[in-house]
Amino acid sequence: MQEYEAVIGMELHVQLKTMTKLFCSCPVESESEANTLVCPICAGFPGTLPVLNEEAVKLAVRTALTLGCKVNKMSVFSRKNYFYPDLPKGYQITQYEHPLAEEGKLIIGNRNIRIRRVHLEEDSGKLIHTEDTTFVDLNRAGVPLVEIVTEPDIHSPKEAYSYITKLREILRYIGVSNADMEKGELRCEPNVSVHRKGEPLGTRREIKNLNSIRQVEDGIKYEIEQQINSLKKGRPVERVTLLWDEKQKVTKVMRKKETEEDYRYFDEPDLPPLCISDSFLKEQWNCIGELPDERRERMRKQYRLTQNDADTLVSRKLLADYFEDVTKITKDTRLTAGFILVELLGFLNENSIRIEDNPISHTSLSELISLMKKGVITRTVARNILPKIIKGQSPMKVVKQLGLEKMEEKEEMEKIVQGILNKYPDEVKRYKEGKSGLFGFFVGEVMKATRGKANPNIVGELLKERLSKI
Ligand SMILES: [Zn+2]
Repeated sequence: MQEYEAVIGMELHVQLKTMTKLFCSCPVESESEANTLVCPICAGFPGTLPVLNEEAVKLAVRTALTLGCKVNKMSVFSRKNYFYPDLPKGYQITQYEHPLAEEGKLIIGNRNIRIRRVHLEEDSGKLIHTEDTTFVDLNRAGVPLVEIVTEPDIHSPKEAYSYITKLREILRYIGVSNADMEKGELRCEPNVSVHRKGEPLGTRREIKNLNSIRQVEDGIKYEIEQQINSLKKGRPVERVTLLWDEKQKVTKVMRKKETEEDYRYFDEPDLPPLCISDSFLKEQWNCIGELPDERRERMRKQYRLTQNDADTLVSRKLLADYFEDVTKITKDTRLTAGFILVELLGFLNENSIRIEDNPISHTSLSELISLMKKGVITRTVARNILPKIIKGQSPMKVVKQLGLEKMEEKEEMEKIVQGILNKYPDEVKRYKEGKSGLFGFFVGEVMKATRGKANPNIVGELLKERLSKI
């Protein structure tokens, strides 16, 4: 296996987060009823003229700048001609010979993945297949996309995985796209070839229909194995486009690959060249803000976070913002990071709430953490009352109403400890016979009986003392 090397290039289509389509004023929405977001321009009626959406240009330029690309002062739109039922005009407006930007890079680990080009184009409509019919929905026709193409610098399925993960994080950070693969906002088409090291490159085969980053990794892995098998048996690898079949975890031949000439590209006569001024570039540059890598490093130093905690917090911009807002008030970074990463994320996860929909305001959470810090409540109580402060109720009020202040009275705790030991004589007997694991059970029962108010350290001490005397 070692003698073969995989060479992978990646084409990514990213749906830009604009209000309207690329060349008309139809809204961009994914949930609307089919064919309700269509006008003569995006439906491809003859005689209509496209008008370029400036917001889409801004987002595409920010993407290019973030990837370190050289943004061309002048780029040109082209027609890519082909017939397909969801392409009403019979051509797609894209950029071909003169793209928006070129020559960027994305660093993953210690590897440099070169970006060949970044360009703007319009999306096609969608075909919806039912059992006996196929419908065409043009809501997506004309939605702005940015296409990001790498040089063939990726050499393993794992690297492909890291590349998309990192790129997605950046796209979300700079706010150009939600980049949700399941919703088709991020579509990835890797092309894969295999050759013996030192020999000429092999035949490239493109894989389509990959709907998650995991599928991209699986699809590439499968394709590399297939190509190596063919080469070993002396069979040539045919130049075709493949479809990933997620159910069977295999690639299938979709069609013979078209060549570029098949598309008969020519400059779009209805649009002038796209000119980018220096001041426009500067404005976009100023909109980008802090990027994930910089933020990770800053937060790790500023708050003395572990690498792991910094990674998790920064992986979602909203979460990092939230943490910084809460920490500003609690002034205890370690307690805040721990509580958000373990208790809050656990709570959201158990209730299938996305971070975007986190119902606990940063002020409520800071008040809760401050109560914990002052020793008014235990961490268990703080965790337990999360559902009670989702509508902005004051944590202090909730604690008072439910009488959840930390139990400090040792006498009171002693009574409860004794009560639990009396309640479970069999467990006490087994514990004395050597089942030491039951200790946690007793602590848990005492905590339950005190509704989490008791200080678990004191409970532990009291239990040890009592049990030793039995
Ligand atoms: Zn339209």
